[in-house]
Amino acid sequence: MFSDELKKFDWDTTTAEIDAMTPRHVETALSKEHLDVADFMALISPAAAPYLEQMAQKSRRITLERFGRTISLYIPMYVSNACTNHCVYCGFNHSNPLERVTLTLDQVRAECEAIRRLGPFENLLIVSGEFPAINGADYLEKVLQTARPYFNNLTIEVMPLKERDYARLTRSGLNGVVCFQETYNEKRYKVYHPRGMKSVFDWRVNGFDRMGRAGVHKIGMGVLIGLEDWRTDVTMMARHLRYLRRNYWQTRYSVNFPRMCPAEGGYTPSVVMSDRELAQLTFAFRLFDHDIDISYSTRENPKFRANMMSLGVTSMSAGSRTEPGGYASTPEALEQFEVSDQRTPAEVAEEIRRLGYEAVWKDWDKVFD
Ligand code: SF4
Repeated sequence: MFSDELKKFDWDTTTAEIDAMTPRHVETALSKEHLDVADFMALISPAAAPYLEQMAQKSRRITLERFGRTISLYIPMYVSNACTNHCVYCGFNHSNPLERVTLTLDQVRAECEAIRRLGPFENLLIVSGEFPAINGADYLEKVLQTARPYFNNLTIEVMPLKERDYARLTRSGLNGVVCFQETYNEKRYKVYHPRGMKSVFDWRVNGFDRMGRAGVHKIGMGVLIGLEDWRTDVTMMARHLRYLRRNYWQTRYSVNFPRMCPAEGGYTPSVVMSDRELAQLTFAFRLFDHDIDISYSTRENPKFRANMMSLGVTSMSAGSRTEPGGYASTPEALEQFEVSDQRTPAEVAEEIRRLGYEAVWKDWDKVFD
């Protein structure tokens, strides 16, 4: 399990190692075709800031070789904001007095139909809060079965599940799972997740092993930028990714670097990452793992998403609503966060084409299952 592997790495030592990186370390990393974690640390360090253009060119070349001129599009569907957790940065947290909505299967069907009217999406990301008695594995299985006729590729971003539940949902049409560790700083983890199942660090961090063992086809990872030192957090995530690739080599992987948005909870991020730093991280990740799917959501603004399209990013969300029932109706439900890119899916696809890329709505087919 990764929790055992993680014990080998001290948080403060890792931070100090990143800070000690020099231009020589950066140049060594840039001269290599295959990077180890120490090279990755050099590329995300402050010492690499003057090398951004070189990193961008290399990231662009590798991305073109591996993915061609394509951007895969997906759309999230929030099915429930019921949650027993108390994440201090989230508008859905249990203490927040907002109306809780869990879509019925008829409402899920209406959402699927409304999404299909927005564009020819085939990649659907089903998102839910964590309230096992309401939106647990039984409910998710029914949601997957309801959404299956509408979409070829179903991914969930929900509470960490048991291995047998991942296996069962895979048999019900699940293709992928996205889970954000939020932070790998175990000592500080409870500051952000004081109560509820999510407060159990090992249960969350070992969820990726359970996905791998259950044969989930694609696993998405990420840390929430805005909590802890982002350089140390993404280094731990890079170690986690290498561990998963070693142990579950048949699985595909994606990463996402969400920068914290204002939410109903009113939490102020303690760490702010600039656009330049997010670009540096994106390039470093592409150089570190040539095959990883790098995803940008509508948290990022249209101009920045367009600039990064040819430089390492390979998938994007479009037309996102972040409240349950947001596509078909239910306007009174609360958004989990505000989106920056408010364009329609057609407008996003048009810009992708204008920049010389192909918008890919479908990159997976049911027959592969
Ligand atoms: S981040 Fe997820 S688990 Fe935490 S309060 Fe929000 S919905 Fe619940």
